[in-house]
Amino acid sequence: MSKNILYTKPSITKKEESYALEAIKNGWGEQFDYHIKLFEKKFLEFTKSKYSVATSSCTGALHLGLAALGLTKNDEVIIADINWIASVAPIIYLGATPIFVDIQEDTWCIDPDSVERAITEKTKAIIAVHLYGNLCNMDMLLSIGKKYNIPIIEDAAEAIGSHWGNKHAGTLGLFGVFSFHGSKTMTTGEGGMLITNNFKLYQNVITLNNHGRKSPSNKFFWPEVIGFKYKISNIQAAIGCAQLERISDLIKKKREIFFYYKNKLDKTTKITTNIEISNTVNSFWMPTIIFCKSTNINKESALAFLERHGISARPFFYPLSKLPIFNIQICNTIAYSISPRGINLPSYHDITKNQQDKVLDTIFKLIDS
Ligand SMILES: *Cc1c(COP(=O)(O)O)cnc(C)c1O
Repeated sequence: MSKNILYTKPSITKKEESYALEAIKNGWGEQFDYHIKLFEKKFLEFTKSKYSVATSSCTGALHLGLAALGLTKNDEVIIADINWIASVAPIIYLGATPIFVDIQEDTWCIDPDSVERAITEKTKAIIAVHLYGNLCNMDMLLSIGKKYNIPIIEDAAEAIGSHWGNKHAGTLGLFGVFSFHGSKTMTTGEGGMLITNNFKLYQNVITLNNHGRKSPSNKFFWPEVIGFKYKISNIQAAIGCAQLERISDLIKKKREIFFYYKNKLDKTTKITTNIEISNTVNSFWMPTIIFCKSTNINKESALAFLERHGISARPFFYPLSKLPIFNIQICNTIAYSISPRGINLPSYHDITKNQQDKVLDTIFKLIDS
């Protein structure tokens, strides 16, 4: 057992254990997809969407969705510079090019004005990633999408529970994807989900995820295109069913953890935190702090300081355009300014107030030193 305060771990109870065990015992033969179908149905009920496909990862779900859209060589996809590589890699798998644009100062999500400036004849899609639970400005993005006839895709991996107005994140664009990796608000170990209200896209996705076999089909072992296989297992889906039955509590807990930090951090002007813009709900997957420039604190030194005090935190994402693998020279001013000063704080569901106080004390020690 590590004595460090971990930055993340899932909340697993007897419910998850018993559902997984039930799937191990019964989820075979005629029941081979029973838990998967149930998981997909429960997810639709929770997000109020029409069609869902459970996958082995969010990366896979995004790959399937982009492939179903027909993304191919010479196409461009606009995405925020501040992101995890998983949101971008599927663009490259399909031979297309990511166009990295700047973020907004307050939400840290994609900046709609920068999106509009980056549109070319090659733009095939815009990916809105809801960072750390914070929401992209969906009204502006959807109106840009409409104006130029370009689909908006939502990567809501970090935003289960977040709402734009009364709509769940991931239900506003052409399709939305989610992750159930062990670090996320709900988990299946590894896993993902694609949701959409578009029947044609849905059909494309299920064909592609079935190695290119159309369903229903009267011919066995007869692929019509080269597809993929990003299927989830019954056992993982059963864990997902248990987590979905507890999802309101899991999200509530994330919000409580965030506000406990925020109420105390509001005492200083040297730090800014996640924003909850009006008419939205932020599910605060990761309580995140940005040190003001005047503090001269960078994320590496902050993480080392916390580590010395037994606290594991994480660095704010790097601008992807900085990675040598992309070999591009751009400077998205806001992304490059915020990224070096940001860290994610520990926020697993079972964290205690004492542990949160320790994190807060350590941060105050750091900014006052
Ligand atoms: C975690 C994450 C992913 C990747 O999810 P996997 O299930 O690990 O493939 C993709 N996008 C975002 C925004 C994420 O946070």
